[in-house]
Amino acid sequence: MYDIIIIGAGPAGLTAAIYACRAEKRTLVLEAKSYGGQIINTPDIANYPVAPGISGFEFATTLYHQAKDLGAEIRFEKVVGVEDGAVKIVRTPQNTYEAKAVILATGAENRKLGVDGEAELTGRGVSYCATCDGNFFRKKDVAVAGGGNTAVEDALYLADLANKVYLIHRRDAFRADAAMVSKLKEKENVQLVLNSTVTKLVAETRLKAVEVTDKVSGKVTTLPVQGLFVAVGQVPENENFKALVELDAGGYAVAGENCHTKTPGIFVAGDNRTKEVRQLVTAASDGAVAATEAIRFLNN
Ligand code: NAP
Repeated sequence: MYDIIIIGAGPAGLTAAIYACRAEKRTLVLEAKSYGGQIINTPDIANYPVAPGISGFEFATTLYHQAKDLGAEIRFEKVVGVEDGAVKIVRTPQNTYEAKAVILATGAENRKLGVDGEAELTGRGVSYCATCDGNFFRKKDVAVAGGGNTAVEDALYLADLANKVYLIHRRDAFRADAAMVSKLKEKENVQLVLNSTVTKLVAETRLKAVEVTDKVSGKVTTLPVQGLFVAVGQVPENENFKALVELDAGGYAVAGENCHTKTPGIFVAGDNRTKEVRQLVTAASDGAVAATEAIRFLNN
């Protein structure tokens, strides 16, 4: 039996593992995909204290080894269910594990745009990761959809690779940090397409263009692009835990700053928790808090 099972090997989960291991708790981290979570796609983390300019991959890899070296067992298996009891049961398709406490640090996945053909064209022009796929669009024309930090960061990254970048955002005000938006506006090959949404994907076997509708004038414009990078936020990955934790209307697990859920011994940390600020630094902070609370729960 493990003391603590942590579900998710992103910044929240791996930070929780560091704290749990340093408290000499037997710790298992279960991850469905690859370690690092969403930060792995960020080329340049500009706002993490004392680490300016570090890439998301370097950050995640260092964190992964830090947790492993401290004794965390990390397995790549998707958790399909958690059962409560004096002993918590954590199931994956391969195994059944037991633990005294569980930390849910599953983060969130990319929200889809919801336009016809999006799924079929994913990998054939439509992408959710500029740093992964940007290279395929060198000297081509591309569009980015979204108005948050991810969209602006993607547009900045693509501006250095692509011939032309359209940033399509449904409002005229950005959710992204003002400093990043200012930087984007300086790029000569970036065109802002504001108050607009992507209403059609034009394709044969691959994406050829996107049709964009101006929400104010109703005017429809066709932008000839070979790539569309969708960066319209995330959806929390809490579906498998809804019997144990309360979810809000957006699907986030309801928990305060102490990361406690309604079920004793089940904690939630990171982007899948209800909170005001979802940043790398707050994910790491949640990991530290959730692990500390789990350790307190075990010691009591
Ligand atoms: P986000 O902040 O939630 O922004 C999502 C954007 O997509 C918003 O502009 C939203 O428009 C738009 N949107 C949502 N649904 C849409 C739809 N169906 N159609 C069209 N547009 C839609 O998500 P994010 O940019 O992925 O960022 C997530 C978190 O990670 C944020 O806290 C962000 O600050 C953080 N982050 C930080 C960094 C960094 O520090 N380097 C990098 C990336 C992300 P509205 O504005 O109209 O709602």
